[in-house]
Amino acid sequence: MARYTGAVCRQCRREGEKLFLKGERCYSDKCAMNRRSFAPGQHGQARKKNSEYGIQLRAKQKAKRYYGVLESQFAKYFEEAERQNGITGENLLKILESRLDNVVYRAGFAMSRKEARQLVLHRHFTVNGHTVNIPSYQVKAGDVIAVKSRDCEKIKECIEKNSARPLVSWMEAGDMAVTVKNLPERNEIDFNVEEHLIVELYSK
Ligand code: SF4
Repeated sequence: MARYTGAVCRQCRREGEKLFLKGERCYSDKCAMNRRSFAPGQHGQARKKNSEYGIQLRAKQKAKRYYGVLESQFAKYFEEAERQNGITGENLLKILESRLDNVVYRAGFAMSRKEARQLVLHRHFTVNGHTVNIPSYQVKAGDVIAVKSRDCEKIKECIEKNSARPLVSWMEAGDMAVTVKNLPERNEIDFNVEEHLIVELYSK
């Protein structure tokens, strides 16, 4: 299964904002964005004039990195979003939010989407009572996502640490489980991106 293996904080520095890819470290003084909040590379601190294409590209890259999705998968999600009724950009975000690894992260069972992905791969969760180990699995309204390995120290630790974080409005908390009440609307998705720029990029 392909995945990004490069320097993670570099992605935030490239996008010029925190993408919270590393869990606890992102909230600490060690965050690279606190120490070097400029783009990586030799010309990272140079003043740049962004073209229209450049702005659209950055929006797409940011969304990809935020959700931990590689290019080909992202392009497939866009095609799917285009096929659906409604606003393509919002459909795209809804599809990305419906990924099981994202749901596990949003539910507070993991400190980052990357960690959620690993926990899902290691078969620590069930969807409607069935073990699912596919991070890209698309959840639906009414699905119950539960912790299968209730003794897993890692998950218990994450639940404890995330207990102060409010649960997203489109989920309902249960006993080491969440129910997806509805798939999120745009105003329920806490991600600062102008999704229309992504649509414009792919429509070229
Ligand atoms: Fe981004 Fe987290 Fe690294 Fe900070 S610590 S730069 S938020 S991945």
